[in-house]
Amino acid sequence: MDRIFNFSAGPATLPQAVLEQARDELVNWRGSGMSVMEMSHRGKEYMSIHAEAEADLRELLGIPANYKVLFLQGGASAQFAMVPMNLLRGKTSADYLNTGEWSKKAIKEAKKFADVSIVASSEDKNFTYAPAQNAWQLDPNAAYVHYTPNETIGGVEIFWTPETGNVPLVADMSSNILSRPIDVAKFGLIYAGAQKNIGPAGLTIVIVREDLLGETLKGTPTMFDYKIAADNDSMYNTPPTFAIYIAGLVFKWLRAKGGLAAMEKENIAKAALLYDFLDTSEFFISPVARENRSRMNVPFTLKNTDLDEEFLKRAKARGMIQLKGHRSVGGMRASIYNAMPIEGVKTLVELMREFEKQHA
Ligand code: PMP
Repeated sequence: MDRIFNFSAGPATLPQAVLEQARDELVNWRGSGMSVMEMSHRGKEYMSIHAEAEADLRELLGIPANYKVLFLQGGASAQFAMVPMNLLRGKTSADYLNTGEWSKKAIKEAKKFADVSIVASSEDKNFTYAPAQNAWQLDPNAAYVHYTPNETIGGVEIFWTPETGNVPLVADMSSNILSRPIDVAKFGLIYAGAQKNIGPAGLTIVIVREDLLGETLKGTPTMFDYKIAADNDSMYNTPPTFAIYIAGLVFKWLRAKGGLAAMEKENIAKAALLYDFLDTSEFFISPVARENRSRMNVPFTLKNTDLDEEFLKRAKARGMIQLKGHRSVGGMRASIYNAMPIEGVKTLVELMREFEKQHA
């Protein structure tokens, strides 16, 4: 069976090798006589899968020993609330950078719990860039600083790590985690929904510095308390076992590729194929500031938007789907996460080139 090139922003394409391994192990996992889906989360088989997934993630990201790795549920959206509930720690205000749709959602939720101060915003240019650090108005008394290093909808990525002094830095890395090496020690907390670069939907990963745990807002539900999750190895209740298993296979796939430095090289090459073409094209336009062009989500528009539908139809005929831009911005968006093969990007650029010739 032929696979299509799926440019969805998430749930997104997964490595074929991972899917094949999961298929081979689906009914009888490594001689256990059962599927991972059927295992007790307290049994030795599943416990080994869980521990190995965490160890491989720690290895990939170089996570220091004083950070906890949590496997949670509720998506990145639940983190919009859990971050203030856990990290205000007696303070009342938190700093947020506003670079687009996902920042806005995080801000809206945080306002239920905290006095939110916007350190800088790119709304003046329709969220097509990220404000430089020297334009941020940081409050040294804020409980934490939150930002979205990759805005999935706008395709705006921040490649530098903000300096926030003693104020913990919190990042929503849902759409660029594992796309390149990062220095975890510069962050107080990192969170990401799994369904882009990690694995299936239903798993949310949180990486948090230990000393930030244990002082939740009054009334915080047990399930929303990071410390409870940390003290119970993410097994206070039943974890999303199958999603964690697949994520573990993805981590092994990444390690076999040579880790995040190797992955970054591939991602740079894939993104360059698209952006180099966009730079020469008079028909397809990239709206994003050059220094913030996301390597993961590449939005572009057609000069003649009447041709949007035809472009999508032609893409589908060539085995490429999910190129329609988010409903809030229109145009096109190609999400080219880790698991998108370079052939997918080449096929897309070929079509764009052809389409331009016919319609320019
Ligand atoms: N933050 C970002 C940057 C995202 O891209 C998404 C999902 N597209 C979310 C948060 C929300 O994630 P979830 O659906 O897992 O709640």
